Amino acid sequence: MRRAGLLVWGAHQVAKSMVRPGITTGEIDVAVERFFEANGAIPLFKGVPGKIPFPAVCCMSVNDEVVHGIPGRRVLLDGDVVSIDTGCKIGGWCGDSAVTYPVGVISPEVGRLLDCTSGVLDLAIQLMGSRSRWSDVASEMAKYVRDHGFSVVENFVGHGIGRKMHEDPQVPNFCTPAFRRNHDFELEPGLVIAVEPMVNMGSKKVRPLPDHWTQSTVDGKPSAHFEHTVAITDSGPRILTAAPGVGETLDAPVKAEKVTPL
Ligand code: MG
Ligand code: MG
Repeated sequence: MRRAGLLVWGAHQVAKSMVRPGITTGEIDVAVERFFEANGAIPLFKGVPGKIPFPAVCCMSVNDEVVHGIPGRRVLLDGDVVSIDTGCKIGGWCGDSAVTYPVGVISPEVGRLLDCTSGVLDLAIQLMGSRSRWSDVASEMAKYVRDHGFSVVENFVGHGIGRKMHEDPQVPNFCTPAFRRNHDFELEPGLVIAVEPMVNMGSKKVRPLPDHWTQSTVDGKPSAHFEHTVAITDSGPRILTAAPGVGETLDAPVKAEKVTPL
């Protein structure tokens, strides 16, 4: 699974190098698709069934869009934030990761939202090494976000991942008595989950847009999304979608492609 995770990390480096005011989300998506292709990886998002099959290799959700935004002709502007989520499969195994990128200069308040969301992901991964059940991690995640004055999205959750992108268990970023009673799970070696907090500046509530995919905040305030694929090993949590370590390389280089604007 590390091979898939490393390629997802590489895809994010391609995307990150292209994010700037004036580029379209569609241009970035094409470059990520070419990167996966050059590395012999199968993109996981394209064709996901829905009212219309998902048409791109990344979800790109801008500002008040929370998740599942469709890349296309939208031009990124100075001060925007764009959440890019992508996944691939190679050798039969999957990786999945999301990052919210600032476009140009963002406001300090939106910067705090991004820091809080990546911070709560880091916290969760760290706690996976010391807590025995997910409910204990999820409760602390919700508290961390609340203490920052933001809200955790409850309509979408993380997931198990392996041969398929979406496997059991469901991995919420908050905890309810019903979850503790009926759906809690042990954090034991061999478990691999995609941990993916979505944090809103205002209301936790989301609504679907007419394109059948994009989920937006109900109050129009911004949202952020960070995700890693994380394995629990005998020596603790290991981030499978992290940057290469010593001796690890990608088959094809990470490079920003010159692509024709859509
Ligand atoms: Mg994802
Ligand atoms: Mg995911």
